[in-house]
Amino acid sequence: MASRAPDLDTLAQGARTDVAGAGSLQDLTSVRARYLGRKGSVSDLLRGIGDLPAEERSRVGQQVNALKVQIEDWVAERRAALESRERNRHLEEHRLDVTLPAAGQPLGHLHPVSHVQRDMAQFFLARGFSIEEGPEVETEHNNFDALNVPADHPARDMQDTFWVEGDFVLRTHTSPVQIRAMTGRTPPFRFIAPGRVYRHDFSPRNSPMFGQVEGFAVDESVTLANLKELLYAFAKHMFGAVELRFRASYFPFTEPSAELDFRCPLCRGDGCNTCSQTGWIEWGGCGMIHPTVLRNCDIDPERYQGYAFGMGLERGAMLRHELPHIRLLYDGDLRVLEQL
Ligand SMILES: [Zn+2]
Repeated sequence: MASRAPDLDTLAQGARTDVAGAGSLQDLTSVRARYLGRKGSVSDLLRGIGDLPAEERSRVGQQVNALKVQIEDWVAERRAALESRERNRHLEEHRLDVTLPAAGQPLGHLHPVSHVQRDMAQFFLARGFSIEEGPEVETEHNNFDALNVPADHPARDMQDTFWVEGDFVLRTHTSPVQIRAMTGRTPPFRFIAPGRVYRHDFSPRNSPMFGQVEGFAVDESVTLANLKELLYAFAKHMFGAVELRFRASYFPFTEPSAELDFRCPLCRGDGCNTCSQTGWIEWGGCGMIHPTVLRNCDIDPERYQGYAFGMGLERGAMLRHELPHIRLLYDGDLRVLEQL
């Protein structure tokens, strides 16, 4: 160093101070550019060597190059220090305290409609029913024809069916499972058939997809009284004290037929939007299986009778939790579902 020209020493000192004073990687980059960049002080010196007397060029050239290497070393050293400081700061900020207790997984629970379905199954299994299932894409025959719904019957429009290519439909009710279960079987038997059904319906009490449970029993001495007793007991099992109403009605697949209503739990019968001001909410339909339906399944209606009923699963959940709107069950809003 001592042999270097004084301006080189000054330059070296300045560079050392500046490099050491760089507070960030960005600062360091500009300090380096100031000395070693294309327009930096050291580059200026190198360019000036050509003007020196020939005998000095080699010596000064070596000194400037040595200075250049020296500055690069200082920069590298400072960069390592800054990077290490940055890394430590990051680690400090994102410190992970492994001694903290784990946050714990929130516990889920069954969907209210699943609860209703399981409760229903429990009731009917205890009364000797078996569970039967059928496909959701059903033949037109099983969904309508075999259930005594003629080709031109308004029920096919009434129910606003989703038709699938060919002679298939998204089943509009669980009743086709009756056809599947009864065909080729000899009574007595009793089944329930829970599952999803589809109708083009978006009104407040309905949804295009909903759950239904079908129930039916066939034997030599099955009566309407048996059916009513069963449904009262069922309602009591599901909801405790609830007021039921049977209304004479018409379905192609039962004769006689009745609609089953329960007293609106929201207004207690005074009338509200959920019950369309009637004080009652339709729960399902029921009746004695039509002789033609039995005959369609090769069962002799002179010897056997049967009853059948079907009701919405969601209505059950709505009644239980006093929900005004079916879609509260299917919006997937945890704020709602967690309360149920
Ligand atoms: Zn009401």
